[in-house]
Amino acid sequence: MNTWERTREVANWLNLSTISGLALAAASGCSISRGARGILYARNYTPALPKAGAFTVGNVVFFRPSLSGQVLHPQLLSHEETHCTQYALCLGLPFLPLYFAAAGYSWLRTADPASRNFFERAANLQAGGYRERPVRKLLPVLAAGLRRGLRGTPAGARPVDGPAA
Ligand SMILES: [Zn+2]
Repeated sequence: MNTWERTREVANWLNLSTISGLALAAASGCSISRGARGILYARNYTPALPKAGAFTVGNVVFFRPSLSGQVLHPQLLSHEETHCTQYALCLGLPFLPLYFAAAGYSWLRTADPASRNFFERAANLQAGGYRERPVRKLLPVLAAGLRRGLRGTPAGARPVDGPAA
């Protein structure tokens, strides 16, 4: 483990994000093992949320059963390890509201929570199993949402917008 990886590991212990990840792993019945570079693996995560094959809390990387084999996918592991670094740089759990704000922005721009999400892009979209989605114009999306809100029309009742040219 190099100095940066050790610093990240210590930071995520001190900012309580890793202990939060371990608590989630214990509560969800995951098997926990020590990986390389200070990362902990929580295999066989089965709760419904989040809807992802893998996700990270502090230095704990969670894997759904389909991705929990003995040999972990190196690109996905690299992607999730970048999220470990992002937790450290965000001083721990503040990563979560920042991540969800970025996911909301991405959804507004692409109808997808990852494609324009700063954190997912920094971790390499494709390595995380995401695809680049076309960007749509923001103003028509907001206007349609406002119209729906004023009329009380349920979301999804009619198309909002197409991709930007
Ligand atoms: Zn990711």
